[in-house]
Amino acid sequence: MREAGRVVASVKDALLKAIQPGIRTRDLDAVAAREIKRCGAQPNFKGYPKPDSPRYPYYPATICVSINEEIVHGIPGDRVVKEGDVVSLDMGAMVDGFHGDAAVTVAVGAVPQAVGRLIEDTRLSLELGIKQAVAGRRVGDVSHAVQVFAEAQGYGVVREYVGHGIGRALHEEPSVPNVGEPGKGPLLRPGMVIAIEPMLNLGTWRTRVLDDGWTVVTADGSISAHFEHTVAITDHGPWVLTTLEGE
Ligand code: MG
Repeated sequence: MREAGRVVASVKDALLKAIQPGIRTRDLDAVAAREIKRCGAQPNFKGYPKPDSPRYPYYPATICVSINEEIVHGIPGDRVVKEGDVVSLDMGAMVDGFHGDAAVTVAVGAVPQAVGRLIEDTRLSLELGIKQAVAGRRVGDVSHAVQVFAEAQGYGVVREYVGHGIGRALHEEPSVPNVGEPGKGPLLRPGMVIAIEPMLNLGTWRTRVLDDGWTVVTADGSISAHFEHTVAITDHGPWVLTTLEGE
């Protein structure tokens, strides 16, 4: 799983180097596909089933690119990234049947201060969640850490989409929500691996899905940010797998 995580981190690195005003989201997708191939890994988002989506019953791309009010699951295409856009990149890869999953949000060029703060606070809320990913604690401790911090800053914490266990499948038990009560939920045990992924909005936590059947947007059109890491529970504390060496 560490190897899959390393590939995901390397894809993230390649995307962060490539993103700039004028690039099409499908070009970012191509960067990710190329990097996964270069690493000898397989894409794990492409072909992901969603039977209730009439247009795309299987996810059609390598990564998700969600811009501004888009929260998650934006499908790369002809859209051009513009100065001032808030771009969330969600990426995964599979090595020897094991999965990795991570997300990052970047401001492309200058954005209003409140938007910059949203991005930084979403990253911080993920860090706080990771600190709770300790053997003997419960999923609710992770959820609660994210929720308390995010709500104290006045953000809407997305509820309908959550983190998840990850291993031989991209999405496994348990669900890892971004709201919850401390001491509640499944026990975290050494050897478990979870994807923690806060999605915070400048406005309401409520969401809706666009006609493509995938793209999730904020119900009020407010800007959203998303960060994610794949984290192993060990006897020595949380181990973030989706990083490069020395990161
Ligand atoms: Mg995920």
